[in-house]
Amino acid sequence: MTVGVHPLAGFDKLLHYKVPETLRAQVAVGSLVRVPILNRQLLGIVGEISEPKDFPVDRLKSVAAVVYPFPALPPDLLGLARWMSGYYAAKLDGIIEAMLPAAVRNAASLKQEKLLSVTRPLDAEELAALTKRAPAQAKLYAFLAQQFKPQKKSLVLSRLDVTAAVVTALVKRGFVREEERRVERIAYSDDWSTGEVVASQPHRLNVEQQAAVDALSVKITEGKFGVTLLHGITGSGKTEVYLRAIHDALAAGGGVIFLVPEVALTPQTVARLRGRLEAIAPDHRCVVWHSHLSEGERIDGWLALATGEARVVVGARSAIFAPVHNLKLIVVDEEHEPAYKQDETPRYHGRDVAVMRAKLTGALCLLGSATPSLESFSNAQAGKYGLLELKERVDARKLPHIDIVDMKIEVMRQRGFTSLSGKLVDAMHDRFAKREQTILFINRRGYSSSMLCTKCGHVEECPHCSITMTYHRADERLRCHLCAHERDAPARCPSCGAPEIRWRGMGTQRVEEAVRRVLPKARIERIDADTMSKKNRFRELLSEFRAGKIDVLVGTQMIGKGLDFPNVTLVGLIDADISMHIPDFRANERTFQLLVQVAGRAGRGDRAGEVIVQTFTPQAEAIQFSRHADFAGFAASELKMRKDFRYPPYRHLIHHLFRGPSEEKLKFYTEQWARHVEKALGARVELRGPAPSPIEKIKDEYRYQVWYFIDGVTRVIADLNALRLAFAWPDDITQVLDVDPVNLS
Ligand code: ADP
Ligand code: ZN
Repeated sequence: MTVGVHPLAGFDKLLHYKVPETLRAQVAVGSLVRVPILNRQLLGIVGEISEPKDFPVDRLKSVAAVVYPFPALPPDLLGLARWMSGYYAAKLDGIIEAMLPAAVRNAASLKQEKLLSVTRPLDAEELAALTKRAPAQAKLYAFLAQQFKPQKKSLVLSRLDVTAAVVTALVKRGFVREEERRVERIAYSDDWSTGEVVASQPHRLNVEQQAAVDALSVKITEGKFGVTLLHGITGSGKTEVYLRAIHDALAAGGGVIFLVPEVALTPQTVARLRGRLEAIAPDHRCVVWHSHLSEGERIDGWLALATGEARVVVGARSAIFAPVHNLKLIVVDEEHEPAYKQDETPRYHGRDVAVMRAKLTGALCLLGSATPSLESFSNAQAGKYGLLELKERVDARKLPHIDIVDMKIEVMRQRGFTSLSGKLVDAMHDRFAKREQTILFINRRGYSSSMLCTKCGHVEECPHCSITMTYHRADERLRCHLCAHERDAPARCPSCGAPEIRWRGMGTQRVEEAVRRVLPKARIERIDADTMSKKNRFRELLSEFRAGKIDVLVGTQMIGKGLDFPNVTLVGLIDADISMHIPDFRANERTFQLLVQVAGRAGRGDRAGEVIVQTFTPQAEAIQFSRHADFAGFAASELKMRKDFRYPPYRHLIHHLFRGPSEEKLKFYTEQWARHVEKALGARVELRGPAPSPIEKIKDEYRYQVWYFIDGVTRVIADLNALRLAFAWPDDITQVLDVDPVNLS
């Protein structure tokens, strides 16, 4: 038997090995193996069982070891890795490494689990004899005899500075016992880092929920590939629908992957899910998968899934690679979230990979959101995805009333820039008096500076690309980051002539201070990246907020994900403009999503909620449609713009970033390259750029970019990548290809 192995060490090809008789039973496609390469032993994945004809079998080297007695990458994952490698033009070994965390590749726990303990007490004579003949053994024995529990072998050896031979000798004498035991460290115990336990009883489904659950049930029973978009407004009870679908999949003997955008930011969703799963399926443990797991937790969770002991995993994007057996259902909650896109190599999109895995496995992929991405929504409209809608909030609760405050008027009234409008201040006073709670959001995304007139709300856009122009302080010019169109930055507003054409957003801290001034007696807390860096602080703040100990919570929109606090009756969005004027064709979509999601945090209890949105451009469509959470209206208008400019979802986009120490050289080569691509690929790509990146320079490296607009990725990517690899790049220019990027700014 010979096998073709993909080594995990930067060799991007299949190497052939013999399999010794003793290992045959354990080797299959997908096995993680150790193989000799040059003078080293490296890890690899068996890609095929082969009978190579080109060279004599006896000249092949042999597989040295098999790490797990089952395929570490089941066939659907290996297929997925190959697809990703092609689609994202990324190396296969890097993808396999993303699928198999380091702890798993190194079989971390398997080595650490040898435990030592004494078998019996020694009498004085025996001890004296041992001390005399073998002092190292005596030292080790004495140490172990003092411990209450068996000790980890590796730790004992390093601590006492003795060799493994000493242990062997003691075992031989019968004084010490060596055992291998698996220690339970799986992150489904209740102590995982961000767990806030939320009691969660099954609800009686309302009519819409029931219809959705029934439709899903049929699909799950069919057991075929399909994608369904669950579009349910905020507070419509989507989680309950997910839970029933999960129940169905488990009942059908299947496994489930549940993806959330970020585990640390969605503790409520995860806690509710786990709480309920234990109720509906007590014999199914739920593995939690996130980036803060210890090595031990990670490998134990992975093993529990790989052996079929656990069948449900909840986690962030990389949980899509969990080795779940007989996968029947993948849920992607908040499928519109940009956090699903990985921003380092391999730059995959968790949602898109989920759809592909479902396809390769024959599972149902359920995408859920109150504000679906236009990509998923147009797929549903085209009939490629099924569509289920929840149009009412549970218990006939009302969507909150949204008030738009025009900050241009506010600036005039208060004679200068202000972070809190009169209306918001009044509303906060009112809630404080009634002991109801308020959340204030500041959207702090975006470093790029647009020019916004605080008098008339005018923002300069690129005439060719319909995205905001970016202000470059160095040479006082405005540039478009898609097509490189540029002009002098105007000193006065081009629309109304006012001199106030300059605007800065404000941070959480400034807003917090402003709130303290108007509500000196209230308890105010701030959650942002600074607070989040302190361990457990986020969880503590959320429980205090739930307990009613905090009156006003000020934070970036990252706190807005999936929160469900019944006593919140006022939500303020301080600055809707930040997201609207980033140089990205998705700026409107992001703004609409932000507004609807943020507003959705209000009025989730018995009392109606109110939302106040402050903006300099109240007439903008993203804002107007969000007033009534009119997704259909927004999508229709936005899709029209996308179609006119032939942006996604009507075409795909690839971003190509170039970095180098010399700007001249970068410019020269990227221009050469652009011409080369246009010539070679002709009408198959529409190329824009090269243009400087929004951040032109990082750590003394200049950055340029090229955009490719294409009809289908698979038709172009292989050729584009081959051209790129063959092009004569100088050594000091590095580059990154990003397929289907989610952030253009
Ligand atoms: P969404 O994710 O759609 O915003 P959630 O799933 O968070 O909504 O549900 C909102 C609230 O409604 C939760 O507190 C949930 O427990 C509750 N809920 C869900 N379904 C029902 C139901 N059928 N009857 C009563 N309450 C429900
Ligand atoms: Zn442009």
